[in-house]
Amino acid sequence: MARGNAAWFDAMTMSLCFWGVRGSLPTPGPATLRYGGNTPCISLRCGPHLLILDAGSGLRTLGDTLTGSISADLLLSHVHIDHICGLPFFRPMFDPATRLRIWGGGLTPLEPIATAVGRSLRAPLMPNLDAAFRATIDYRDVAPGETFMPHSGLTVASFAVDHPGGALAYRIAWGGASLSYVTDAENAAGPPDAALAAFVAGADLLICDASYSDAEYPDRVGWGHSTWEGAIRLANAAGAGTLVLFHHDFAHDDDTMDSIAAAAATRRPGTLAAREGLEITLSGR
Ligand SMILES: [Zn+2]
Ligand SMILES: [Zn+2]
Repeated sequence: MARGNAAWFDAMTMSLCFWGVRGSLPTPGPATLRYGGNTPCISLRCGPHLLILDAGSGLRTLGDTLTGSISADLLLSHVHIDHICGLPFFRPMFDPATRLRIWGGGLTPLEPIATAVGRSLRAPLMPNLDAAFRATIDYRDVAPGETFMPHSGLTVASFAVDHPGGALAYRIAWGGASLSYVTDAENAAGPPDAALAAFVAGADLLICDASYSDAEYPDRVGWGHSTWEGAIRLANAAGAGTLVLFHHDFAHDDDTMDSIAAAAATRRPGTLAAREGLEITLSGR
């Protein structure tokens, strides 16, 4: 694995950039300048294909960097507001040349992803955006456990994780490399869930909910999030490659994040704490 500016056009590489790494609430201000305060959004280039993982407030800044006509697949872990609040502010939505497929599912109560997302795009929550959006939007429901291929050679598997209202983890494979995206998943007490570890097994990269520390967790049981130590336990149980801590708690300022990043890297060398602007490139074996 190499980091830095990737040649994303290389047909066999997966190249990621983090645009939002914060959980639950955008957290701007001087205390979060280094890691960033935007909520979840990651761009993922698989050869010529653009995928976007979640549509948190970081989606706005991603959209401002995209030029030309956009064709992309947006994978939503779920529809809590921190994961969809960037959609109305995604510049390509107002371009008739944009083609966007929005994938998601596993919601409780069960409803189509179009219904769940659409609710956030209309009055009274927002001005009516159906008419304002000029992009072609194609909603695709994902059943938990379903594997689908947005493009030839690009495989996405899904897994229902433990989160209020339901959420999906994804495993994406392209060109011989794979990554698992496990955010908003309660996996903090005791050994990791065996089925989740099997889903993640052998992934080159694991992006994992690390909202809290084990010490903080007893006051947050049932909130649907993991700890950084739990993320390490999952990565180890799954034999995953590089672990990236993600969905940082809004109360964790930059100095706290530095401490968590250092402790995690000591316990599992190579572990990273996601920050806005972090780029990672995976090459197939
Ligand atoms: Zn969240
Ligand atoms: Zn959530």
